[in-house]
Amino acid sequence: MLDSLYHRLEQKEDDLIALTQGLIRFPTINPPGEAYGPCARFIGERLEKRGFAVQYIHAHGTPGDNDSYPRINIIARYEGKTPGPCIHFNSHIDVVEVGSGWTKDPFAGEIEDGKIYGRGACDMKGGLAASIIAAEAFIEQFPDFPGAIEISGTCDEESGGYGGVAYLAEQGFFAKDRVDHVIIPEPLNKDRICLGHRGVWWAEIETHGHIAHGSMPFLGDCAIRHMGAVMDQFEEKLFPALAQKRTDMPVVPEGARQSTLNINSIHGGQSEDFEGLPAPCVPDSCRMVIDRRFLIEEKLDEVKGEVKDLLKSLEQDRASFSYTLKDLFEVQPTMTDKHQPVVKAVSKGIEDILGKEADYVISPGTYDQKHIDRIGQLKDCIAYGPGILDLAHQPDEYVGIADMLDSAKVMAQSIHSLLQGSKDNAKS
Ligand SMILES: [Zn+2]
Repeated sequence: MLDSLYHRLEQKEDDLIALTQGLIRFPTINPPGEAYGPCARFIGERLEKRGFAVQYIHAHGTPGDNDSYPRINIIARYEGKTPGPCIHFNSHIDVVEVGSGWTKDPFAGEIEDGKIYGRGACDMKGGLAASIIAAEAFIEQFPDFPGAIEISGTCDEESGGYGGVAYLAEQGFFAKDRVDHVIIPEPLNKDRICLGHRGVWWAEIETHGHIAHGSMPFLGDCAIRHMGAVMDQFEEKLFPALAQKRTDMPVVPEGARQSTLNINSIHGGQSEDFEGLPAPCVPDSCRMVIDRRFLIEEKLDEVKGEVKDLLKSLEQDRASFSYTLKDLFEVQPTMTDKHQPVVKAVSKGIEDILGKEADYVISPGTYDQKHIDRIGQLKDCIAYGPGILDLAHQPDEYVGIADMLDSAKVMAQSIHSLLQGSKDNAKS
């Protein structure tokens, strides 16, 4: 019975290719959030023709939303013949800037050697196309299925997802009364299931000084030297301590299987956009933005406490040291249990289609699962999709056609076991 589902998918290969190319041809670059509306309508019009109920949700007032760059999301739902669970496929439609180094047209969807090239081919229009084809094939094969299938194309994942999944979750679209299982077809490689991600804490540290003439720095107090002392402490104490914190989370790549901290930026003294020669001043302020990624074994309070303790000790030991610390952004780590239904369904699919056991991974950075988990309170959620993770955001990004087809089979089989299986279970 599933063989005819796979066969149906194989017959849809040309459609899958054309759909992927069609999606790539919308230059949905974020920022600023280009062509969201046309891309959403392209998806919506296709699904409407196939019997989905389609809604376009404008995320009014979210970051970056304005008349020129409206945040338009599309959500489509297909009701089965009888009540049952709902499986939702969520893909972001935005892509990052093109960058340099391309040998292909980033928005043409060129095909070469079984690969479709373009910005967003891998991250994640290939995954979106695979999920659409999987859902369509399943509906054709099992027209009397119970439950419902949803597909969404959402904005702004690359910039935090506030005009996309977060907005939809706040409106109740990701909630237990309408969705049971969620698959996010991010490019994690077709044989891997991504269970979640590490946590994030962004903060700004500002050191304060006293302005004076630069020819007499002893009359002032240099905020940048104070920041230098902070960085010394980071090098001597914080970075070695973080390297010791290992996790049982299966984070990939291996190097991210520990706590990390990136110094995102430092600004002090004369601003960078001045013209002419700099004025001789002792800087009275220096600001550093830190990007700390933490583990499921750590508590956010402790993560913040490490940095606070280090700043407090400088306040005691270093003459005239004063600082402020401002929280900018935080996300809790999330890791879906391996025994959740969606994990079991997809891992069985990987085993059947690819003939190998699924690998379980955790993403070093966050993605839209954070909103589905925190706002939607949906815990049966994973990322699974075609495409090679390392190619995301790179020049000459591509997605393999055979990989898309394989992962579409895994998705279709997962729909079958989660929906059709619910009926069989109810009977027995
Ligand atoms: Zn992505």
